Amino acid sequence: MSGGMTLKIRSIKAVPLFGESPKGGWSAEIKPEDSIHALVAVQTDGGVTGFGSVFTDARLVQAGLKVLEPLFLGENALEPSRVSEKLHQNTFWMGRGGTLTHTISGIDIALWDILGKVTNMSVGRLLGGRHRERVQPYCSLLMEEPKKMFDVIAEYRAKGFTAFKIGWGPFGRAMDAKLDAAIVRAAREAAGPSSKLFVDAGASDAHWPHGLKWALRTAEMLKDHDVGWFEEALRPDAIDDFCELRRQSPVPIAGGEVLTRRQAFLPWLMRGALDIVQPDVTKVGGITEQRRIAWLADEFGVKYIGHGWNTALGVAADLQLATAMPLCDLVEFIGGSPYVDGITVEPFKLDAEGWLTIPDAPGLGVGIDREKLRRYTDDADALFG
Ligand SMILES: [Mg+2]
Repeated sequence: MSGGMTLKIRSIKAVPLFGESPKGGWSAEIKPEDSIHALVAVQTDGGVTGFGSVFTDARLVQAGLKVLEPLFLGENALEPSRVSEKLHQNTFWMGRGGTLTHTISGIDIALWDILGKVTNMSVGRLLGGRHRERVQPYCSLLMEEPKKMFDVIAEYRAKGFTAFKIGWGPFGRAMDAKLDAAIVRAAREAAGPSSKLFVDAGASDAHWPHGLKWALRTAEMLKDHDVGWFEEALRPDAIDDFCELRRQSPVPIAGGEVLTRRQAFLPWLMRGALDIVQPDVTKVGGITEQRRIAWLADEFGVKYIGHGWNTALGVAADLQLATAMPLCDLVEFIGGSPYVDGITVEPFKLDAEGWLTIPDAPGLGVGIDREKLRRYTDDADALFG
Protein backbone atom coordinates (compact mmCIF):
# COMPACT_ATOMS: atom_id res chain seq x y z
CA MET A 1 0.00 0.00 0.00
CA SER A 2 1.35 3.38 -0.93
CA GLY A 3 1.09 6.57 1.09
CA GLY A 4 -1.96 8.65 0.33
CA MET A 5 -4.01 5.66 -0.77
CA THR A 6 -7.76 6.12 -0.46
CA LEU A 7 -10.67 3.76 -0.45
CA LYS A 8 -13.92 5.66 -0.68
CA ILE A 9 -17.01 4.92 1.40
CA ARG A 10 -19.69 3.97 -1.12
CA SER A 11 -22.52 3.20 1.32
CA ILE A 12 -23.23 2.20 4.90
CA LYS A 13 -26.00 -0.23 5.79
CA ALA A 14 -27.54 -1.37 9.06
CA VAL A 15 -29.77 -4.38 9.69
CA PRO A 16 -31.62 -5.48 12.84
CA LEU A 17 -31.04 -8.78 14.58
CA PHE A 18 -34.22 -10.26 15.98
CA GLY A 19 -36.10 -13.50 16.62
CA GLU A 20 -33.82 -14.77 19.36
CA SER A 21 -32.86 -11.62 21.27
CA PRO A 22 -31.64 -12.74 24.70
CA LYS A 23 -33.55 -11.54 27.75
CA GLY A 24 -32.15 -8.49 29.50
CA GLY A 25 -33.61 -9.05 32.96
CA TRP A 26 -35.16 -5.59 32.53
CA SER A 27 -38.43 -4.64 34.23
CA ALA A 28 -39.89 -4.11 30.71
CA GLU A 29 -38.46 -7.39 29.42
CA ILE A 30 -37.03 -7.69 25.90
CA LYS A 31 -39.07 -9.99 23.67
CA PRO A 32 -37.30 -12.36 21.22
CA GLU A 33 -38.74 -10.39 18.28
CA ASP A 34 -37.46 -7.04 19.58
CA SER A 35 -34.50 -5.54 17.76
CA ILE A 36 -32.01 -4.11 20.23
CA HIS A 37 -28.89 -5.24 18.37
CA ALA A 38 -27.89 -3.95 14.93
CA LEU A 39 -25.13 -4.92 12.52
CA VAL A 40 -23.47 -2.28 10.38
CA ALA A 41 -21.54 -2.70 7.13
CA VAL A 42 -19.35 -0.03 5.53
CA GLN A 43 -19.01 -0.68 1.80
CA THR A 44 -16.22 0.84 -0.28
CA ASP A 45 -15.53 1.47 -3.94
CA GLY A 46 -12.63 -0.94 -3.73
CA GLY A 47 -14.84 -3.89 -2.89
CA VAL A 48 -13.64 -4.18 0.72
CA THR A 49 -16.44 -4.26 3.32
CA GLY A 50 -16.01 -3.69 7.06
CA PHE A 51 -18.44 -4.79 9.75
CA GLY A 52 -19.49 -3.26 13.03
CA SER A 53 -22.19 -3.55 15.63
CA VAL A 54 -24.43 -1.27 17.68
CA PHE A 55 -26.32 -2.08 20.87
CA THR A 56 -29.61 -0.35 20.09
CA ASP A 57 -32.73 -0.63 17.94
CA ALA A 58 -31.68 -0.89 14.28
CA ARG A 59 -34.38 1.58 13.25
CA LEU A 60 -32.49 4.25 15.17
CA VAL A 61 -29.21 3.28 13.49
CA GLN A 62 -30.85 3.40 10.05
CA ALA A 63 -32.20 6.88 10.81
CA GLY A 64 -28.78 7.94 12.12
CA LEU A 65 -27.13 6.75 8.91
CA LYS A 66 -29.51 8.91 6.85
CA VAL A 67 -28.56 11.97 8.88
CA LEU A 68 -24.83 11.22 8.69
CA GLU A 69 -24.74 10.22 5.02
CA PRO A 70 -23.72 13.60 3.56
CA LEU A 71 -20.74 13.59 5.97
CA PHE A 72 -19.45 10.07 5.24
CA LEU A 73 -20.24 9.48 1.54
CA GLY A 74 -17.00 9.51 -0.46
CA GLU A 75 -14.86 9.76 2.69
CA ASN A 76 -11.62 7.81 2.96
CA ALA A 77 -12.49 4.49 4.62
CA LEU A 78 -8.85 4.05 5.66
CA GLU A 79 -8.98 6.86 8.24
CA PRO A 80 -11.27 5.68 11.07
CA SER A 81 -10.23 8.18 13.73
CA ARG A 82 -10.44 11.22 11.45
CA VAL A 83 -13.75 10.21 9.86
CA SER A 84 -15.36 9.36 13.22
CA GLU A 85 -14.23 12.65 14.75
CA LYS A 86 -15.61 14.50 11.70
CA LEU A 87 -18.98 12.83 12.31
CA HIS A 88 -18.92 13.73 16.03
CA GLN A 89 -17.82 17.32 15.49
CA ASN A 90 -20.44 18.08 12.84
CA THR A 91 -23.42 16.69 14.76
CA PHE A 92 -22.87 18.32 18.16
CA TRP A 93 -26.27 20.01 18.00
CA MET A 94 -28.32 16.93 17.08
CA GLY A 95 -28.37 15.02 20.34
CA ARG A 96 -24.76 13.99 20.80
CA GLY A 97 -24.29 10.98 23.05
CA GLY A 98 -27.49 9.32 21.82
CA THR A 99 -28.47 7.71 18.53
CA LEU A 100 -25.87 9.50 16.44
CA THR A 101 -23.05 8.51 18.80
CA HIS A 102 -24.35 4.92 18.81
CA THR A 103 -24.45 4.94 15.00
CA ILE A 104 -20.94 6.37 14.74
CA SER A 105 -19.81 3.48 16.99
CA GLY A 106 -20.87 0.91 14.39
CA ILE A 107 -19.29 2.92 11.58
CA ASP A 108 -16.00 3.36 13.46
CA ILE A 109 -15.70 -0.36 14.28
CA ALA A 110 -16.31 -1.20 10.61
CA LEU A 111 -13.71 1.36 9.45
CA TRP A 112 -11.06 -0.22 11.70
CA ASP A 113 -12.07 -3.60 10.24
CA ILE A 114 -11.50 -2.19 6.74
CA LEU A 115 -8.14 -0.62 7.62
CA GLY A 116 -6.99 -3.97 8.99
CA LYS A 117 -8.19 -5.92 5.98
CA VAL A 118 -6.45 -3.54 3.56
CA THR A 119 -3.17 -3.41 5.51
CA ASN A 120 -3.28 -7.14 6.36
CA MET A 121 -3.04 -6.39 10.08
CA SER A 122 -5.30 -7.14 13.02
CA VAL A 123 -6.88 -4.11 14.71
CA GLY A 124 -4.92 -4.76 17.90
CA ARG A 125 -1.67 -4.33 15.95
CA LEU A 126 -3.01 -1.17 14.29
CA LEU A 127 -3.80 0.18 17.77
CA GLY A 128 -0.14 -0.15 18.62
CA GLY A 129 0.54 -3.77 19.44
CA ARG A 130 -0.54 -6.97 21.11
CA HIS A 131 0.05 -7.22 24.86
CA ARG A 132 -1.47 -10.71 25.02
CA GLU A 133 -2.55 -13.58 22.81
CA ARG A 134 -5.57 -14.61 24.89
CA VAL A 135 -7.91 -13.22 27.50
CA GLN A 136 -10.38 -14.61 30.01
CA PRO A 137 -14.05 -14.14 29.10
CA TYR A 138 -16.49 -13.85 31.94
CA CYS A 139 -19.81 -15.48 31.25
CA SER A 140 -22.68 -13.03 31.85
CA LEU A 141 -25.86 -14.65 33.06
CA LEU A 142 -29.14 -13.32 34.40
CA MET A 143 -29.98 -13.74 38.07
CA GLU A 144 -32.44 -16.50 38.81
CA GLU A 145 -34.02 -17.96 41.93
CA PRO A 146 -31.26 -19.78 43.89
CA LYS A 147 -31.95 -23.34 42.70
CA LYS A 148 -32.12 -22.30 39.04
CA MET A 149 -29.11 -19.98 39.50
CA PHE A 150 -27.07 -22.96 40.67
CA ASP A 151 -28.14 -25.03 37.65
CA VAL A 152 -27.44 -22.27 35.13
CA ILE A 153 -23.93 -21.58 36.48
CA ALA A 154 -23.22 -25.32 36.60
CA GLU A 155 -24.29 -25.60 32.94
CA TYR A 156 -21.89 -22.86 31.81
CA ARG A 157 -19.10 -24.12 34.07
CA ALA A 158 -19.47 -27.46 32.30
CA LYS A 159 -19.02 -25.61 28.98
CA GLY A 160 -15.62 -24.47 30.24
CA PHE A 161 -16.10 -20.95 31.63
CA THR A 162 -14.02 -20.09 34.70
CA ALA A 163 -15.41 -16.61 35.40
CA PHE A 164 -19.05 -15.63 35.81
CA LYS A 165 -21.15 -12.53 36.28
CA ILE A 166 -24.73 -12.70 37.49
CA GLY A 167 -27.04 -9.73 37.26
CA TRP A 168 -30.44 -8.09 36.97
CA GLY A 169 -33.57 -10.24 37.41
CA PRO A 170 -34.87 -10.45 41.00
CA PHE A 171 -31.68 -9.04 42.61
CA GLY A 172 -32.66 -5.94 44.60
CA ARG A 173 -35.95 -5.74 42.74
CA ALA A 174 -37.66 -8.37 44.92
CA MET A 175 -36.88 -6.18 47.97
CA ASP A 176 -35.59 -9.26 49.78
CA ALA A 177 -32.02 -9.14 51.11
CA LYS A 178 -32.18 -12.81 52.12
CA LEU A 179 -33.11 -13.81 48.57
CA ASP A 180 -30.26 -11.65 47.18
CA ALA A 181 -27.79 -13.42 49.47
CA ALA A 182 -29.21 -16.86 48.64
CA ILE A 183 -28.80 -16.20 44.89
CA VAL A 184 -25.16 -15.16 45.30
CA ARG A 185 -24.45 -18.11 47.63
CA ALA A 186 -25.95 -20.54 45.08
CA ALA A 187 -23.89 -18.98 42.29
CA ARG A 188 -20.67 -19.24 44.32
CA GLU A 189 -21.41 -22.89 45.17
CA ALA A 190 -22.00 -23.73 41.51
CA ALA A 191 -18.99 -21.72 40.30
CA GLY A 192 -16.65 -23.30 42.84
CA PRO A 193 -14.07 -21.50 44.98
CA SER A 194 -11.49 -21.07 42.22
CA SER A 195 -13.79 -19.37 39.67
CA LYS A 196 -14.19 -15.61 39.48
CA LEU A 197 -17.66 -14.33 40.37
CA PHE A 198 -18.99 -10.82 39.79
CA VAL A 199 -22.39 -9.28 40.61
CA ASP A 200 -24.33 -6.71 38.57
CA ALA A 201 -27.32 -5.07 40.26
CA GLY A 202 -28.35 -3.50 36.97
CA ALA A 203 -29.48 -0.27 38.64
CA SER A 204 -29.72 1.48 35.27
CA ASP A 205 -33.05 -0.36 34.90
CA ALA A 206 -36.27 1.67 35.14
CA HIS A 207 -37.18 2.96 38.61
CA TRP A 208 -34.36 1.34 40.56
CA PRO A 209 -35.72 1.34 44.13
CA HIS A 210 -32.52 1.44 46.23
CA GLY A 211 -29.90 3.96 47.27
CA LEU A 212 -26.50 4.20 48.93
CA LYS A 213 -27.41 2.39 52.17
CA TRP A 214 -28.69 -0.65 50.30
CA ALA A 215 -25.60 -0.67 48.11
CA LEU A 216 -23.30 -0.53 51.17
CA ARG A 217 -25.16 -3.34 52.99
CA THR A 218 -25.19 -5.45 49.84
CA ALA A 219 -21.48 -4.87 49.21
CA GLU A 220 -20.76 -6.35 52.67
CA MET A 221 -22.80 -9.43 51.77
CA LEU A 222 -20.95 -9.81 48.44
CA LYS A 223 -17.59 -9.75 50.24
CA ASP A 224 -18.64 -12.89 52.15
CA HIS A 225 -18.99 -14.75 48.84
CA ASP A 226 -15.69 -13.57 47.43
CA VAL A 227 -17.34 -11.45 44.72
CA GLY A 228 -14.78 -9.67 42.53
CA TRP A 229 -16.81 -6.54 41.79
CA PHE A 230 -20.20 -4.93 42.38
CA GLU A 231 -21.55 -3.41 39.15
CA GLU A 232 -24.24 -0.74 38.63
CA ALA A 233 -25.07 -0.78 42.33
CA LEU A 234 -26.66 2.68 42.11
CA ARG A 235 -28.70 4.66 39.62
CA PRO A 236 -26.48 5.61 36.67
CA ASP A 237 -26.37 9.36 37.41
CA ALA A 238 -25.70 9.08 41.17
CA ILE A 239 -22.06 10.11 40.94
CA ASP A 240 -21.80 11.45 44.53
CA ASP A 241 -23.15 8.20 45.96
CA PHE A 242 -20.83 6.18 43.70
CA CYS A 243 -17.86 8.12 45.11
CA GLU A 244 -18.99 7.35 48.67
CA LEU A 245 -19.72 3.71 47.84
CA ARG A 246 -16.28 3.25 46.32
CA ARG A 247 -14.68 4.73 49.44
CA GLN A 248 -16.56 2.43 51.82
CA SER A 249 -17.22 -0.78 49.88
CA PRO A 250 -15.09 -3.83 50.70
CA VAL A 251 -15.49 -5.04 47.08
CA PRO A 252 -14.45 -3.09 43.94
CA ILE A 253 -17.13 -0.89 42.34
CA ALA A 254 -17.81 -1.14 38.59
CA GLY A 255 -19.98 0.80 36.15
CA GLY A 256 -20.16 3.04 33.10
CA GLU A 257 -21.99 0.93 30.53
CA VAL A 258 -24.66 3.60 29.98
CA LEU A 259 -22.19 6.44 29.43
CA THR A 260 -21.25 7.47 25.88
CA ARG A 261 -18.56 9.84 24.54
CA ARG A 262 -15.14 10.13 26.18
CA GLN A 263 -16.12 13.46 27.73
CA ALA A 264 -18.87 11.84 29.83
CA PHE A 265 -16.34 9.50 31.49
CA LEU A 266 -14.05 12.29 32.68
CA PRO A 267 -15.92 13.36 35.84
CA TRP A 268 -16.34 9.71 36.88
CA LEU A 269 -12.60 9.14 36.56
CA MET A 270 -11.50 12.48 38.00
CA ARG A 271 -13.74 12.14 41.06
CA GLY A 272 -12.80 8.54 41.78
CA ALA A 273 -16.31 7.11 41.40
CA LEU A 274 -15.25 3.71 40.04
CA ASP A 275 -12.63 1.00 40.53
CA ILE A 276 -13.52 -0.54 37.16
CA VAL A 277 -14.93 1.26 34.12
CA GLN A 278 -16.98 -0.69 31.57
CA PRO A 279 -17.52 1.37 28.40
CA ASP A 280 -19.44 -0.28 25.56
CA VAL A 281 -17.52 -0.04 22.28
CA THR A 282 -20.80 -0.38 20.35
CA LYS A 283 -22.24 2.72 22.04
CA VAL A 284 -19.49 5.12 23.16
CA GLY A 285 -18.27 6.00 19.66
CA GLY A 286 -16.49 2.82 18.55
CA ILE A 287 -12.92 1.62 18.85
CA THR A 288 -11.44 5.11 18.42
CA GLU A 289 -13.40 6.46 21.40
CA GLN A 290 -13.09 3.30 23.51
CA ARG A 291 -9.32 3.36 23.18
CA ARG A 292 -9.21 6.93 24.47
CA ILE A 293 -11.51 6.07 27.40
CA ALA A 294 -9.44 2.98 28.26
CA TRP A 295 -6.20 5.00 28.25
CA LEU A 296 -7.81 7.79 30.30
CA ALA A 297 -8.89 5.18 32.87
CA ASP A 298 -5.36 3.82 32.94
CA GLU A 299 -4.01 7.28 33.81
CA PHE A 300 -6.39 7.41 36.77
CA GLY A 301 -5.50 3.90 37.93
CA VAL A 302 -8.99 2.65 37.06
CA LYS A 303 -9.31 -0.77 35.47
CA TYR A 304 -10.83 -0.98 31.98
CA ILE A 305 -13.05 -3.90 30.96
CA GLY A 306 -15.13 -3.77 27.76
CA HIS A 307 -18.92 -4.23 27.63
CA GLY A 308 -19.26 -4.92 23.90
CA TRP A 309 -20.99 -8.27 24.26
CA ASN A 310 -24.03 -7.52 22.11
CA THR A 311 -22.94 -9.40 18.96
CA ALA A 312 -19.92 -11.38 17.76
CA LEU A 313 -18.63 -8.11 16.27
CA GLY A 314 -18.85 -6.30 19.59
CA VAL A 315 -16.94 -9.14 21.23
CA ALA A 316 -14.40 -9.12 18.38
CA ALA A 317 -13.81 -5.37 18.89
CA ASP A 318 -13.44 -5.92 22.66
CA LEU A 319 -10.87 -8.66 22.04
CA GLN A 320 -8.76 -6.36 19.86
CA LEU A 321 -8.93 -3.60 22.50
CA ALA A 322 -8.11 -6.15 25.22
CA THR A 323 -4.84 -7.01 23.51
CA ALA A 324 -4.01 -3.36 22.78
CA MET A 325 -4.27 -2.32 26.45
CA PRO A 326 -1.46 -3.22 28.87
CA LEU A 327 -3.64 -4.31 31.81
CA CYS A 328 -6.93 -5.65 30.39
CA ASP A 329 -7.48 -9.17 31.71
CA LEU A 330 -11.21 -9.85 31.11
CA VAL A 331 -13.90 -9.40 28.46
CA GLU A 332 -17.64 -9.72 28.90
CA PHE A 333 -19.25 -12.67 27.10
CA ILE A 334 -23.00 -13.25 27.28
CA GLY A 335 -23.99 -16.86 27.89
CA GLY A 336 -26.17 -18.36 25.17
CA SER A 337 -26.71 -15.56 22.63
CA PRO A 338 -27.09 -16.74 19.01
CA TYR A 339 -26.03 -13.24 17.91
CA VAL A 340 -22.60 -13.98 19.41
CA ASP A 341 -22.33 -17.73 18.89
CA GLY A 342 -24.30 -18.14 15.67
CA ILE A 343 -23.35 -15.54 13.04
CA THR A 344 -19.65 -16.03 12.38
CA VAL A 345 -17.83 -18.47 10.12
CA GLU A 346 -15.89 -19.77 13.12
CA PRO A 347 -17.60 -19.41 16.49
CA PHE A 348 -15.52 -18.28 19.48
CA LYS A 349 -14.12 -21.30 21.30
CA LEU A 350 -12.86 -21.55 24.86
CA ASP A 351 -9.48 -23.15 25.42
CA ALA A 352 -8.80 -25.74 28.13
CA GLU A 353 -8.62 -23.02 30.80
CA GLY A 354 -11.78 -21.27 29.67
CA TRP A 355 -9.97 -18.40 27.89
CA LEU A 356 -10.41 -16.97 24.39
CA THR A 357 -7.63 -16.67 21.83
CA ILE A 358 -7.49 -13.12 20.48
CA PRO A 359 -7.71 -13.26 16.66
CA ASP A 360 -4.69 -11.95 14.76
CA ALA A 361 -6.23 -12.20 11.29
CA PRO A 362 -6.67 -8.92 9.37
CA GLY A 363 -9.19 -6.43 10.77
CA LEU A 364 -11.44 -7.64 13.56
CA GLY A 365 -10.36 -11.16 12.68
CA VAL A 366 -13.84 -12.66 12.44
CA GLY A 367 -15.88 -13.49 9.34
CA ILE A 368 -19.65 -12.99 9.19
CA ASP A 369 -21.47 -16.01 7.74
CA ARG A 370 -24.21 -14.74 5.44
CA GLU A 371 -26.23 -17.96 5.55
CA LYS A 372 -26.17 -18.18 9.34
CA LEU A 373 -27.07 -14.50 9.57
CA ARG A 374 -30.26 -15.05 7.55
CA ARG A 375 -31.79 -16.73 10.62
CA TYR A 376 -31.69 -13.51 12.62
CA THR A 377 -32.42 -10.77 10.07
CA ASP A 378 -34.62 -10.42 7.02
CA ASP A 379 -32.07 -8.44 5.03
CA ALA A 380 -28.69 -10.15 5.43
CA ASP A 381 -27.81 -9.45 1.79
CA ALA A 382 -27.91 -5.68 2.39
CA LEU A 383 -24.72 -5.96 4.44
CA PHE A 384 -22.83 -7.65 1.63
CA GLY A 385 -24.14 -5.19 -1.05
MG1 LIG B 1 -23.93 -4.49 33.40
